[in-house]
Amino acid sequence: MTARTFGRLRIECVRGDIANQPDVDAVVNAANAALRPGSGVAGALHRAAGPGLDEECRALAPIAPGEAVITGGHDLPNPWVIHCLGPVYGRDRPEPALLAASYRNALQLADERGLESVAFPALSTGVFGYPMAQAAEVAFQTMADTADALHSVTRVRFVLFSEADLTLHERVLGAVQASRCLYPEPPPRSGRGV
Ligand code: ADP
Repeated sequence: MTARTFGRLRIECVRGDIANQPDVDAVVNAANAALRPGSGVAGALHRAAGPGLDEECRALAPIAPGEAVITGGHDLPNPWVIHCLGPVYGRDRPEPALLAASYRNALQLADERGLESVAFPALSTGVFGYPMAQAAEVAFQTMADTADALHSVTRVRFVLFSEADLTLHERVLGAVQASRCLYPEPPPRSGRGV
């Protein structure tokens, strides 16, 4: 596991299954517009949550790219699920702004509910086709930009399915942090009376 800190926000990257993250308040679903069970992340979460999640979702659908909605966790180990519709790469434009909105809206929803920790999958990088390195940069830049506006959320976990995806995310997370730490302190004042 790798972790980096942006202000009060700790971002962790781990390899694992988004449906098996018992120590976080909310898990994020890479949802479809109709909020129905599907393949990938949505399939895994709905399978683990049971039919109650599908029932609760019906009342909230459809959602638009960039939007996020929150439900209970049902049979998942987490009390909450945040459902995000990321952009389909090559169709929902501009993709980076819509993907950033997904991450921002999910974090804001969690913060409004007073949650402390949220686990994300790599939104849009499966059947929606977003190139993973580009998606990872959007995700981490957005989280770093949003960190100062959060009150209750202090821990975000990125859950990656494969070792290769984990390695890539660790590299991008390190690069995003390094790019923001070039001037950690204001430059010293020089001269008098300035
Ligand atoms: P999208 O439709 O937004 O592209 P997908 O569910 O198809 O969402 O995939 C998003 C990412 O999540 C992909 O990188 C995929 O490999 C990964 N993934 C699929 N299943 C799981 C899971 N159970 N836990 C964590 N990540 C998963």
